[in-house]
Amino acid sequence: MEQPSRRLGRSSLISVIVPVFNEEASVALFHKELCPHLEDTNHAFEIVLVNDGSRDATMQRLIEIKQNDDRVRIINLSRNFGKEAAMTAGLDFAKGDAVIIMDVDLEEPPELISDMIELWSQGYDVVVGRRVSRLEDTRLKRLTSGGFYRWFNKISDLKIPDDVGDFRLLDRAVVTSLQQMPERVRFMKGIFAWVGYRTATLDFERRSRRHGTTKFTFWRLWNFAIDGITSFSTLPLRIWSYAGGVIAIVAFLYAAFIITRTVLFGIDLPGYASLITVVLFLGGVQLIGLGVIGEYLGRVYIETKRRPIYFATEFHGRDLEVRNDFKAQAMRTD
Ligand code: UDP
Ligand code: MG
Repeated sequence: MEQPSRRLGRSSLISVIVPVFNEEASVALFHKELCPHLEDTNHAFEIVLVNDGSRDATMQRLIEIKQNDDRVRIINLSRNFGKEAAMTAGLDFAKGDAVIIMDVDLEEPPELISDMIELWSQGYDVVVGRRVSRLEDTRLKRLTSGGFYRWFNKISDLKIPDDVGDFRLLDRAVVTSLQQMPERVRFMKGIFAWVGYRTATLDFERRSRRHGTTKFTFWRLWNFAIDGITSFSTLPLRIWSYAGGVIAIVAFLYAAFIITRTVLFGIDLPGYASLITVVLFLGGVQLIGLGVIGEYLGRVYIETKRRPIYFATEFHGRDLEVRNDFKAQAMRTD
């Protein structure tokens, strides 16, 4: 494959995008550990920190970091929009020829960055990190997450590996493609997989979080899972026609049996137990079907409103020009 020349040049700019939410304890250490690895690559770099509506002193910490390091840029969102939206904001503002998305908690090793860039310079458009161990996750989390991705891959045309997170390098061409995905419900793992491109995989050992705690509660993960399924599969909607068909066939056979029995043996009145069972069962099945339709309908409603994915209120860092058209947004800059 012919290498795009800009990847060979030393002048490439690498952007590291980091969504942060209530991470006052983690940001300084993260910056300190990350920089040497970026400096080693001999590429110019910028660190795009997206403050996703933190309610602690994270923003002050970020500004302190930026004051001592002009390679740091900060976007402050107007409230907590969630990691998916924060990553989208980072992708909109990053200027790099390649961007790397990382969490701030150092669960993902910054040492991998040089290997990612190496693979990128060999012509890969996407380099994803695959965790080979996730010992820091609880057994329950590993089980449910494994089960979810197995199920997801069965019912969706899109295949997402279970052990791949958001830690990845993306070429500028991929970022441009991602920006054309207009959906408001942003299940980024699915969106990343959907755009495709030449992808390489790097294995890494996931470490435990240095400071702070995970922001993903069980309830948040549950909603995240439903977002993922409804964004990338319509099978849960279509399955009701088949379920209806099967129930209708069973009902028809049962009716034929009852009629034949009545004609042959006369009326047998008692039947409260079977009647109430069938009524309750069918009522339940119909409500589940309606609930599933409701899940999709709610998402159609959200998409049709076409609200912005996030609002940025503040922007710190050199070079105020942004790639996307954010002129409509009132932004305070320093
Ligand atoms: N995060 C965010 N907004 C949120 C939740 C999380 O920007 O609403 C960030 C968080 O600060 C961290 C990353 O997303 O940098 C991953 O979060 P976390 O470590 O809590 O998730 P886990 O690794 O447990 O899946
Ligand atoms: Mg984490």
